[in-house]
Amino acid sequence: MADSNILPIEFVDLKRQRARIGERIDAAIQKVLAHGQFILGPEVKQLEDGLKQFCGAKHAIACSNGTDAIGLCLMALKVRPGDAILCPSFTFAATAEVIAWLGATPVFCDINPDTFNIDIASMKAGLETAQQKGLRAVGVISVDLFGLPADYDAIEAFCKDNGLWLVCDSAQGFGGTYKGRTTGTIGTFTTTSFFPAKPLGCYGDGGAIFTESDEMAALLQSLRFHGKGNDKYDNVRIGMNARLDTLQAGILLEKLAIYADEIDARNKVAEAYTAQLGDVAKAPHVPAQSRSIWAQYTLTLPEGTDRNALAAALKDKGIPSAVYYPKPLHQQTAYNKYPVAGNGLPVCENLAARVISLPMHPYLTGEQIDYICTHFRAAMGKPAAVAA
Ligand SMILES: *Cc1c(COP(=O)(O)O)cnc(C)c1O
Repeated sequence: MADSNILPIEFVDLKRQRARIGERIDAAIQKVLAHGQFILGPEVKQLEDGLKQFCGAKHAIACSNGTDAIGLCLMALKVRPGDAILCPSFTFAATAEVIAWLGATPVFCDINPDTFNIDIASMKAGLETAQQKGLRAVGVISVDLFGLPADYDAIEAFCKDNGLWLVCDSAQGFGGTYKGRTTGTIGTFTTTSFFPAKPLGCYGDGGAIFTESDEMAALLQSLRFHGKGNDKYDNVRIGMNARLDTLQAGILLEKLAIYADEIDARNKVAEAYTAQLGDVAKAPHVPAQSRSIWAQYTLTLPEGTDRNALAAALKDKGIPSAVYYPKPLHQQTAYNKYPVAGNGLPVCENLAARVISLPMHPYLTGEQIDYICTHFRAAMGKPAAVAA
């Protein structure tokens, strides 16, 4: 095996993407430098149009990052102290952080061990927990963790039955599909992030919100620009500065042009990993009605596996790995005072100790995947997979 073709292996390889479209991105940056409309320049509107077209949503509102995207939605929904919002505990902190910004209470729910996404039975328990604590349950923030859409039929039915709104935190899932619907068209709002390492990332911070409601879209445009009314010096509500830079929009337009192709490539990488590793660890499960965009490829190790030793053995061979997430939010210092659904969140706690994510990006070669899998198997004490 000629290692020189294989190494280095990056966890997320943005250099290879630059080799493909770097010139186009640089030209897009130059174009913005030339016209000089750095705030809400023409590329921002073009990007919003492109994003809408990509997912089929009626409105796309570009904004400063994926955290502010959720925060703007909660502001539009008039979230206030005394409100309870159900969300998974096995997620990035931003999902719950914005709930606390507005003085509301996150009620942490457990996840499904096969999909890593919010568990419906735990949501039911979470609703009861909120009621017992004298809180008004107002909504749900679901998460499309690792790129896989959550179980939206069940979540939407639950929200409808209980008079709750739904914000889909698709920071990791933009472009995934659930029963033929693309993320961006589901829920009261869908939010996403363009953080550089996300599947559709820019060269800094960025995010977007999707909605079908004309009224909500207008409200979000005002909220992202200091609560502006007819013009920027007409302030009709308390908002924030949460705009997307024109430069980032220009960069994203070029990346969006190849995004569908990159999603296909990510799916091929995931299939190859599962074919070679599915017998040594539990491969991520994609329900038949869904398509993941593979923000992460996350294996669940057998109980008792020494994960640190495995990661060290991989690192020794030049293979980066990561743990998303080592500690669920309900066990984090900043969040451990908030309620959890029912009697606790055993699945989150169990998986936090057992998951490991492998390098995932659209430019991993077959040779690199074979190399990663061979060394993963060896570190787990298994022979190399037999070539097909
Ligand atoms: C990355 C991420 C966010 C936050 O996005 P930023 O653009 O970094 O603010 C929110 N939720 C989830 C699930 C994420 O993975």
